[in-house]
Amino acid sequence: MTEGRHAPDTLATATGRAPEGSGGRPPGGQPRVLVIEDDADIALGICTVLSRNGFEVTTAAAGRQGLRALHGTSPDLVVLDIGLPEMDGWTVLERIRDLSDVPVLILSARSMEADKVRGLRGGADDYLTKPFGNGEFVARVQALLRRNQQGTQALPAIYDDGTVRVDFASHEVIVDGAPVGLTATEYRLLAALIKHRGQILSPVKLLELAWSDPLGIGPDRVKYSVMRLRRKLGGAGTDSPIEAVRGFGYRYRVTPRT
Ligand code: CA
Repeated sequence: MTEGRHAPDTLATATGRAPEGSGGRPPGGQPRVLVIEDDADIALGICTVLSRNGFEVTTAAAGRQGLRALHGTSPDLVVLDIGLPEMDGWTVLERIRDLSDVPVLILSARSMEADKVRGLRGGADDYLTKPFGNGEFVARVQALLRRNQQGTQALPAIYDDGTVRVDFASHEVIVDGAPVGLTATEYRLLAALIKHRGQILSPVKLLELAWSDPLGIGPDRVKYSVMRLRRKLGGAGTDSPIEAVRGFGYRYRVTPRT
């Protein structure tokens, strides 16, 4: 179990930086979609309808191949089938989330509500049960891309409060002028706190925002990760940019320490 949790962090650290999944595209270019689907007929159908609607499509028939394509093509959106050979869609989703914030639309043959909840809590942005109509599929893809564009526009590319500087495109974190190495989880934790700065986030909310698969992880895990993150950001106790609000959670201070 612990191996599964640590491997993605190691991967992100080993590459030195987390590749960005979206946001780097010059405006006006054709949006790129990566389709990870082993059923050739469904993949072809999706491909055809997406191309017809002005998308550039890359397909992968298996998880590993899909993850390689994610690095290679940095798509604007990923369509991910859950029933994949070898590495299933849940695992692929977890790996994607350790590397990228790219919107993910899950496809599943199962119509179970539990699956849907698992998909969305695991970091998927939307969920579609097979069989689905082309019209609905394209509408969901377009809605996700729109939502994501609004999200990235609202968030500045660089956050800098004079002490902590985060480059959301390169995932680089600099504290007091010196680069700080964070694990993928610590980075997402910091990004979530900064995006909601001034707001108290409960451990449960932080699990949802920063962990790719929060099911089965207790709030204690959040506590320890925040502790490590605070240590890396410097400033002990009341000096830390991350304030612990007893009984409620954590808050990134709006006013930086002086
Ligand atoms: Ca399948």
